[in-house]
Amino acid sequence: MSDAALTQLRHVFGYDSFRGEQARIVSHVADGGDALVLMPTGGGKSLCYQLPALLRNGTAIVISPLIALMQDQVEALRQLGVRAAFLNSSQNAGESAATERQLLDGALDLLYVAPERLLTPRFLSLLDQATIALFAIDEAHCVSQWGHDFRPEYRQLTLLHERWPQVPRIALTATADTPTRREIVERLALENAQQFVSSFDRPNIRYTVVQKHDSRRQLELFLDGHRGESGIVYCLSRRKVDATAAALSARGISALPYHAGLDAGVRAANQRRFLREDGIVMVATIAFGMGIDKPDVRFVAHMDLPKSLEGYYQETGRAGRDGEPSEAWLAYGLGDAVLLQRMIENSDAGDERKRLERSKLDTLIGYCESTGCRRQTLLSYFGEAHGGACASCDNCLEPPQSWDGTVAAQKALSCVYRSGQRFGAAHLIDVLRGADTAKIRQHAHQSLTTYGIGSDLDARQWRGVFRQLVATGLLDVDVEGHGALRLTSDSASVLKGARTLSLRTEPPAASRRRERAKGGAGSNAAQLPADASARFESLRQWRGEAARAQSVPAYVIFHDSTLRDIALCQPADLDQLATVSGVGVGKLERYGQAVLEALAQHSPAATR
Ligand code: ADP
Ligand code: ZN
Repeated sequence: MSDAALTQLRHVFGYDSFRGEQARIVSHVADGGDALVLMPTGGGKSLCYQLPALLRNGTAIVISPLIALMQDQVEALRQLGVRAAFLNSSQNAGESAATERQLLDGALDLLYVAPERLLTPRFLSLLDQATIALFAIDEAHCVSQWGHDFRPEYRQLTLLHERWPQVPRIALTATADTPTRREIVERLALENAQQFVSSFDRPNIRYTVVQKHDSRRQLELFLDGHRGESGIVYCLSRRKVDATAAALSARGISALPYHAGLDAGVRAANQRRFLREDGIVMVATIAFGMGIDKPDVRFVAHMDLPKSLEGYYQETGRAGRDGEPSEAWLAYGLGDAVLLQRMIENSDAGDERKRLERSKLDTLIGYCESTGCRRQTLLSYFGEAHGGACASCDNCLEPPQSWDGTVAAQKALSCVYRSGQRFGAAHLIDVLRGADTAKIRQHAHQSLTTYGIGSDLDARQWRGVFRQLVATGLLDVDVEGHGALRLTSDSASVLKGARTLSLRTEPPAASRRRERAKGGAGSNAAQLPADASARFESLRQWRGEAARAQSVPAYVIFHDSTLRDIALCQPADLDQLATVSGVGVGKLERYGQAVLEALAQHSPAATR
């Protein structure tokens, strides 16, 4: 590693040392090599092109898919004293022209552009006249049709290599699965690029899967443990997004909706508030999230099953970019599996695609039902070994109990069979428990031999039985029959008693105390001693004012972790302040004095 890189890291960014693969990547690209960087969200990808941009002659061109987010990225760099700008359709002609002039004058270290702008003949010929330090292709998985972020313009980016073969390219993504990686290499002509693959573990994120019974209430209890914190709540449908956001707002939580059905202006305003204000809960479909690099998202909650494990990992990865404790929480029930299967079968995708989606869904259900370490399951999906026992997932923290469910499974399967394989779990449970409902009378199901044979278990326990039977392939969802449950070729072995079945015990209905004890992992001030906590709050208040005055997000001024360190070590002067991680020269000059003043309000001298 060159001394120059380390010097810049400390001087400009205020960090002591590189993380993981950063040092190797920076020196490789700074020396003119091509690179493909696979690093989880929060791993520190931006630095991998921002530092070489400073070390190399000319301007780094950063291709980024979302114009709405470029501004904040550029603002964060400017706060560090780096000469950065963006070009996109949100600007007027005058602004664009000024930025283009800066490019030609060599007055920019980094220039962010959207791919569609980059590919215009006009912009390409402009680049011909400029000195280009490197090309950084962010969110490189957008080139892949495999995922859900596909962007056709990304496919044309090979022309960069053709037109400027001597300019190094660095492609970056947090999507790690092998098919996507292969497609990136192929589509971006990166065969000769060096690949840097980091561990995809996110040790600061705690994973929890809860069995759905009253998901709205379960969510509210979960959120009680995260009062005042920023987070994302994902729902499957637009309608559910609206309803959930309204319900949370009615409880006094600052919740905003986000989905593709909202007016573009409302969407942009909500996103902006989420990025800029503290403590906003964004209730959203998966339309929300790509490129959101807000570092202090403390939780990501899923009210419905996501579509695949890689999607889940990417969505939950938006929590805790700053490395502080964060939570990934997922509520899952039989209804989700049925609904998603129906969505797959009823879509107009080809057979091949459907098979793929079915197998992705099965993998996800397997994850939910797993009794082993969640982290181990997640990482093994990305081809990475982990020893398990992570001490930071629900299964490790409270190992699930199991029971011999053979007899219950026989009762359930036989009830499916006797009622003609035409009903869903809710009705079957009523039959097993001997309920008196109109539907039972209508079908004369009180005369079935399985009527009332399951009164030893309550409805929730039965739901667990049916859910696990579907998950293990002992029952099948009849998609054309509106989600009715059917026997499979494997069911007979259980019915005949040739196979025993160990089922996971359903945890008791969540009590307020229980959920709260689980939550709150990331409460900011809670982890500080009382006096430091008061200093932290006063620093946060100062930061909020400074951010509003410049209308930038608070985190581009200082991250929570930096404020916390300042609150703890109480620097007495600018020299001491400069040693705190995240305080580079640019920020020291800009904010050093104000920080010391905010601290002084809490010093013993001031209170005396
Ligand atoms: P990614 O783009 O991979 O999700 P970012 O580039 O946004 O990650 O970085 C995540 C966080 O880590 C940011 O807050 C960034 O400032 C911080 N960070 C990156 N590199 C370092 C480092 N070497 N030392 C300390 N903090 C770092
Ligand atoms: Zn674990």
